[in-house]
Amino acid sequence: MRRCPNCGHRGVFQSWGKMVDQCPTCDLKYEREEGYWLGAVLINTTITIALFLTAMVAWALVTWPDPPWTAMTAMGIVINLLVPLLFYPLSKTLWVAIEISAHPPIATGGPEVKNS
Ligand SMILES: [Zn+2]
Repeated sequence: MRRCPNCGHRGVFQSWGKMVDQCPTCDLKYEREEGYWLGAVLINTTITIALFLTAMVAWALVTWPDPPWTAMTAMGIVINLLVPLLFYPLSKTLWVAIEISAHPPIATGGPEVKNS
């Protein structure tokens, strides 16, 4: 939802896909280490592939025995270009949410998080 996964604050994106370094409300630092966003890329890729395969298999089954291969290829290209772009912010906040559920921020007033 383009909100901070820790406190729900809006405005954690500088642009469509660029998150601020730290939540302005709860001070949660988003990128905890180098390569942190690999999990978000994995989520984004998994969602794109799942949507692509579901759409293509469903379309082929509905139109079998004569699937419109050219139209299906065009739709596959559109899905594989648009879904990663549209889902990118959600994949980042989803990854942060998964990560903080596994490794909760330290609520000591330290540098990682102010209040949680
Ligand atoms: Zn926050």
